[in-house]
Amino acid sequence: MGAGTVDLLVIGGGMAGLSAAARVASEGGSVVLVERAERTGGSARFAGFVWTAPTVEELRRINPDGDPELATALLNGFEDAVAWIRLLGVECRPPVPVLGFGRGHQVDTNRYLDACERLIRDRGGDVLTATRTRDLLTEDGVVRGAECVLPDGSRRRIDAAWTLLATGGFQGDPDLRAEHIHPRAREIGLRANPYSRGEGLALGLAAGAAFGPKDAGFYGHLMPAGVSLSDPARFVGLALYYSEHALLFDITGERFADETAGDHLTTMALLERPQARGLLVADARVHREWISASYVEGIPGVDKFQLCHRAGARCAVADSLEEFAWMPAEWGYPGTRIRDRVEEFNAAVRDGGETAPGRLLDRQPLDEPPFYVIEAVPAITFTFSGLLTDAGAHVLSADGHHRIPGLLVAGADAGGLYRRAYAGGLAPALVFGLAAARTVLAGTAGGGR
Ligand SMILES: Cc1cc2nc3c(=O)[nH]c(=O)nc-3n(C[C@H](O)[C@H](O)[C@H](O)COP(=O)(O)OP(=O)(O)OC[C@H]3O[C@@H](n4cnc5c(N)ncnc54)[C@H](O)[C@@H]3O)c2cc1C
Repeated sequence: MGAGTVDLLVIGGGMAGLSAAARVASEGGSVVLVERAERTGGSARFAGFVWTAPTVEELRRINPDGDPELATALLNGFEDAVAWIRLLGVECRPPVPVLGFGRGHQVDTNRYLDACERLIRDRGGDVLTATRTRDLLTEDGVVRGAECVLPDGSRRRIDAAWTLLATGGFQGDPDLRAEHIHPRAREIGLRANPYSRGEGLALGLAAGAAFGPKDAGFYGHLMPAGVSLSDPARFVGLALYYSEHALLFDITGERFADETAGDHLTTMALLERPQARGLLVADARVHREWISASYVEGIPGVDKFQLCHRAGARCAVADSLEEFAWMPAEWGYPGTRIRDRVEEFNAAVRDGGETAPGRLLDRQPLDEPPFYVIEAVPAITFTFSGLLTDAGAHVLSADGHHRIPGLLVAGADAGGLYRRAYAGGLAPALVFGLAAARTVLAGTAGGGR
């Protein structure tokens, strides 16, 4: 290893990248972190709960098509990861339930990310913001760093024993969304940092990495149609998490998913329906108990419907189901059919009968006027497919899934953990970021260094 060679080069300074770099720096390793944006932090600056499933079995139950090795590594690493946040002097609040099956801690992620960055700099590491990466440096199949372009346009060669790709996924690139998720995903809204455009993916693929799994889907939420997401405060403020307690109809006036399975899953299902838009119908009970209430302990409730209305969403309050017949024609939905379907649903749940699609959880009728109607569309937070990896955060090769020497991946750049299911984004970024750090600190560079 040359004198100017650092132990770790990180490309992407969000949850995964900052965690890995700070951990290596804390143990005396030398690091350089390259961040595309003016400021580090990525989507993690908008996130607040470090959570996942409580056990491997539960994670496997909700995510049966995910890689079992990664599921086990996530659960095994979770407690140490929480301890590491606390070690940096950042509070992790007592655990609370998340999404019904999960558990996790509310964390001031901004404090955590800033503490990581400070630690890196204090230990003599470099954090280069507004910096792009042109190419990975490779030698006989071994990745040995990267060539970067600094904000003034000058180039800098960074030699490294290990290079970690942590650019946060490809959700910011409409073409990649269309290619890997669904043709209609080109048009969907982005509820995430705008810089994660698949550059980590491209660098990994150029080095011979494997990509997958196919059709893994994405994590996202339903958002009000026609409302700009340029203000990140809207990512959480306007997300229609309450869809789990409402009924969602597609443009043909039919239900198509068990809404109670989770807003994030309904979001993926809506993308596959004609025009990828739908009408979300709730009643006064749902408005009282879910729309205006807190969706997770620690986050105060606000009237989301009001917020969406004020933001210019296509929405209406109907005093009775009869009024659905007068739904504005320009909305394009068959109002009378939707009214009929709500009435059929109500009759079925009152009689204890089956609804189609079935409904596992909230099986109460929507019959308390007024009715709250809003048009919803899918929006994406991060992608599930990515560079295939193992529990040590090594990137696996396309030819035979051997480890690509010198190359690591963590966070949403990595694929394999989730397939059309979700149990947290911060926790995997943190756990596999720390796993990457362990690999670096163990000094077992695949290239024999
Ligand atoms: C509104 C919102 C709320 C969320 N809430 C939660 C929550 O409560 N709990 C939870 O578990 N998850 C939550 N998430 C998801 C969570 O934020 C992500 O899963 C997590 O941040 C992923 O970590 P990452 O390091 O892969 O990506 P990020 O944290 O997004 O970091 C990626 C970084 O890479 C940078 N980058 C991109 N391209 C390049 C390049 N070419 N070169 C250098 N740098 C580059 C980006 O600018 C960014 O700084 C939320 C996300 C959003 C948007």
